[in-house]
Amino acid sequence: MPTRRYRLLRLALAALIAGLATTSVGLPFLVQSTKDAIKRTTTHDVAWNGANGRQEFHSLHLAALRYEEMNPEIRQTQISLALDIARSRLETWRSGAFAAFIKTDPALVDHFTKVETHFKTVADALSHNEKPGSIDAASEAMDKLMPSVKKLASAAYAHDAGEVARNYSRLNFLQKTQQVTIAALIFFGFSLLYFLSWQNRRLQHANDAEKAIAAKNAFLASHDVLTSLPNRATVNTLVEELVAQAGSGAVIMVDLDGFKPINDVLGHAAGDALLISVSRRLERFASAVPGAATGRLGGDEFVVLLGGIDLACDALAAGEQLIQLIQAPHELGNHHVRVNASAGVALSGRSIHCGELMARADLALAAAKAEGRGRAVMFEDSMMRSATARAALEADLNSSDFWREIEPSFQPIIDLTNGNIVGCEALARWTHPLRGMVSPAEFIPVAEQSGRIIDIGQVMLTKACAAGMTMPEPIMVSVNVSAAQLLRTNFLECVAESLAQTGLPARRLKLEITESVTIGERARIVGLLQDLRAMGVSVSLDDFGTGYSSMSYLRDLPFDELKIDRSFVVSIESDRQARAVVQTIIALAHNLDLRVVAEGIETYEQAMLLTAMGCARGQGYYLGRPGSAIALAKAINARNHPARVDRLIA
Ligand code: C2E
Ligand code: MG
Ligand code: MG
Repeated sequence: MPTRRYRLLRLALAALIAGLATTSVGLPFLVQSTKDAIKRTTTHDVAWNGANGRQEFHSLHLAALRYEEMNPEIRQTQISLALDIARSRLETWRSGAFAAFIKTDPALVDHFTKVETHFKTVADALSHNEKPGSIDAASEAMDKLMPSVKKLASAAYAHDAGEVARNYSRLNFLQKTQQVTIAALIFFGFSLLYFLSWQNRRLQHANDAEKAIAAKNAFLASHDVLTSLPNRATVNTLVEELVAQAGSGAVIMVDLDGFKPINDVLGHAAGDALLISVSRRLERFASAVPGAATGRLGGDEFVVLLGGIDLACDALAAGEQLIQLIQAPHELGNHHVRVNASAGVALSGRSIHCGELMARADLALAAAKAEGRGRAVMFEDSMMRSATARAALEADLNSSDFWREIEPSFQPIIDLTNGNIVGCEALARWTHPLRGMVSPAEFIPVAEQSGRIIDIGQVMLTKACAAGMTMPEPIMVSVNVSAAQLLRTNFLECVAESLAQTGLPARRLKLEITESVTIGERARIVGLLQDLRAMGVSVSLDDFGTGYSSMSYLRDLPFDELKIDRSFVVSIESDRQARAVVQTIIALAHNLDLRVVAEGIETYEQAMLLTAMGCARGQGYYLGRPGSAIALAKAINARNHPARVDRLIA
């Protein structure tokens, strides 16, 4: 809400409270005034005193006038009584409210003085009424006294009448003030009530909103933002619950095959839509199976948990069913997309804890992928054993001794037309004190996954370049380069550094990269290869035909050489089709102005056949096994005729 509105609200509330407070403070004064006014209304004693006095003095006057006619036995008593009454009245007039009233006007003071003077005469005369003429004297004094008494009585009446009128108007005013106060109190009270109830409603709304936000946050913390499926943390909790079910249940880990190309080609929005579509299918599956749940572990990896499953075949069938569900076409806007999936299945067991169960499903998934994808694979103990072995291998790769244990071995590359050694391939050799010789086929993939390959590659490059310097001039040194190594930001600098450090001319270095490296980031790789060539370094496409071979790669990427994979060479003697493939590759390479090297030549016949097909260079156990740089240098000196070597390299 804007600040201005808040300020207005605060002002209104302050006004309400101030009004209420003022009214409340004014209320006691009002009550007091009312009390005073009512008291004044009920005490009109001045007029009453005056009227009674007139009556009493009149009675005394009559008693004096009728003295003679009265019964002699009682007249003395009556006279005395009338005198006492008049005296006591005079006493009353001398004090209190009446005295105060008399003092308000000097004329009244005069009249009162006259009354007192004449009364004294009357009292004296009547007290000695046996004296002749005393009654007449009393009557005479009474005649003089009565006008003043009447004046005082009528003035008292007039005084009280005025007071009554004033009191009336005061009461009237007070009544109106009270009415206004009551109205104000009611108004302020109701306003405050309304304000408070309004405020309460707002608090309620704020409270509801806060609750909704808290619920939303709790949902976001436990669910995946894109698909709304439970996230990894929630899945772990669910797996813990599953494990707690006394050993019955299964975890199916599902991974989409080829999701990255879809994301790259159709865009991230389509990729997201595909993930959402897959999620909904998994959700439908889970809701149809009692005790099942699903979640997203991240990327294109999902999980389905099945409660109450004991048989491996049931769990595997569920995994296969999930793959089929995912394989059905997905409608993403204008696109109908098909995506394959692999699944790893692991059964819960009594002594298997949550992390282990997830790791088992993960290993089974990796096996499913390794076995060709698009399938569900059940976890087997051997998977865990090889994973453990792999972890141990990784630990050894990371040990500080590793650098002393790894050395390049050099396999000659031969000119098939004359048998000369024209180059060599540096192949990593790891001699572990306990493991013995570890094949690069075993440790390179592990190093590639752990990222260790970057350091290994750099060390191998420098050692190979250094060894190259021990070999006679035009001999080329080929070094294998992994994708992670090639795609590191400062790869060109690393190559230049190795060359500078060892002194090997760039023209004698050849880098071998496999087809898999060329997938994705094509523009960047084209740039890299061009920069390498600009440095004078040659580039060879290794293991051609085994990966994602594409003619467009050959056309776009600036290679110098193509190496036919051993898997084709091994069967060219017996397999006509293999021969046809090799022949085609050689023709293709020639047409693209690429040199061809056949790998894995193990027999004389293979060497002859390849030479006949036009393949000028070869590498293999028949031509020379990998060995030390010194051994290779000796072989070069023994076999190569200097003149012929010069001719070949030119
Ligand atoms: P590659 O680059 O294709 O190397 C050729 C492999 O074939 C070598 O295996 C070599 O010993 C083997 N070989 C050569 N001639 C024959 C033959 O006649 N018969 C048979 N059966 N095999 C033959 P190696 O040394 O075990 O290396 C395996 C793979 O490991 C290499 O394949 C390469 O991809 C990788 N590698 C080796 N050293 C390095 C390295 O320093 N860095 C990187 N990134 N990868 C390396
Ligand atoms: Mg190679
Ligand atoms: Mg190769």
